[in-house]
Amino acid sequence: MSFESFGLDSALLGALAEAGYTTATPVQQQAIPAALAGHDLRVSSQTGSGKTAAFLLPCLHQFAAQTSAQAAKGASPLDAVAREAGSRKRAPGARTTGPVILVLTPTRELAQQVMRAARTYGARLRALRVASIVGGMPYGPQLQALRAGSELLVATPGRLWDFIERGAIDLSSVKHFILDEADRMLDMGFIDDIRKIAALLRPERQTLMFSATFGGAVGRLAQSLLKPDAQVIAISEKGPDRAAIEQRLHWADDLRHKDAMLDRILADADIDQAVVFTRTQIEADGLARRLFEEGHSVASLHGGLPQGMRNRVLQGLRQRRLRVLVATDVAARGIDVPTITHVVNYGLPMKAEDYVHRIGRTGRAGRAGLALTLAERRDIPAVHRVQQLMSQAIPVAEMPGLEPRFRPRPEQPRAKRSGPPHRKGGPGRFASSPGNNGTRGRPRAVGR
Ligand code: AMP
Repeated sequence: MSFESFGLDSALLGALAEAGYTTATPVQQQAIPAALAGHDLRVSSQTGSGKTAAFLLPCLHQFAAQTSAQAAKGASPLDAVAREAGSRKRAPGARTTGPVILVLTPTRELAQQVMRAARTYGARLRALRVASIVGGMPYGPQLQALRAGSELLVATPGRLWDFIERGAIDLSSVKHFILDEADRMLDMGFIDDIRKIAALLRPERQTLMFSATFGGAVGRLAQSLLKPDAQVIAISEKGPDRAAIEQRLHWADDLRHKDAMLDRILADADIDQAVVFTRTQIEADGLARRLFEEGHSVASLHGGLPQGMRNRVLQGLRQRRLRVLVATDVAARGIDVPTITHVVNYGLPMKAEDYVHRIGRTGRAGRAGLALTLAERRDIPAVHRVQQLMSQAIPVAEMPGLEPRFRPRPEQPRAKRSGPPHRKGGPGRFASSPGNNGTRGRPRAVGR
């Protein structure tokens, strides 16, 4: 389905053509028409599905339509937006300082990614100014950006609330309120900030909520923020992006064995760029140091680094000065670099959902990717949780000359399964894979 068929503003269509987008992804096909029709949305979709464009394009279209209608009447479009919002009294020609589109994201990195996407899609909208206010950055420049005015604001909830409390921002003009990766925002403890922020918005605003899941607290939040007739859009977890990612599981006897396998993986000439995930910041720094000493162009990325450093690392990755990034989960959420061909789980994620986010760093925008998990005996429960979540076994593979001594015991047949039905070779079982690139598959099974 083409973007023209949605009837999007020509300025957006031009920018999309320039960005090389020809067809809409499944989440875009469903979310764009529904949002254009004015509905609130509750969207569960995986990372890498094109969700950013799915929420930005309809909001930017409505912004463009409004500004051009006002321009035709001869008024400053921004005056009109503010007047309609019934906000403050302002002199004719004065510009509003309040955003019309507000996007909340859990992390600075994701906020920056959304901002970049907004600048790409909105490149031909002259009235559009994009700003972000995120934690961990100096207040001064963010305050200046707010004072200068911005029609689209991307913010992390904690810092936004800081600015609200200081009286530095007026949210009465917000017409489109977007929560991106809502589940992660709740994980990070932003629930109160989100509720307080939402309470300041006009009740008739449009709310678009995106989350990997809508269970528990995030479901309750959706119920309280979305209008009762909100449209529910669920993009299958086993969508086309997942299919583009080949997954392999390598059993490791110990740390030395794991390091040897990592060295073998990183020596692969097929790697364009790789992200290696660790469990902790200390492990990320230590591993990056070791790989640097071995001659790799590598850096670490985690929440313990100053924001300036994190930005430089991400820029180095985008500009391909770095071939390997060693990262922890939170910091890696916003990494959107299509040239990442390999993801390596050097440490298993604490939460099974993070596995899905990790592997989603590769296989982006229709490209193929390889996700390799290096697991030790103590990781068996974490591997099970991941397979359970995905209703899918990760195919086991081995590297010639680096075969493990340790192999999990075969699974005992179980009389009864609880939960949703699984397909053959489902969770708890490790299927075989033909393997390539110096690895070969081998049928395996494992017990719980
Ligand atoms: P997201 O899920 O929003 O993080 O997007 C994942 C990646 O897909 C980003 O690199 C986008 O620039 C890219 N992308 C999004 N929509 C499309 C599309 N319709 N065609 C091609 N690439 C896209």
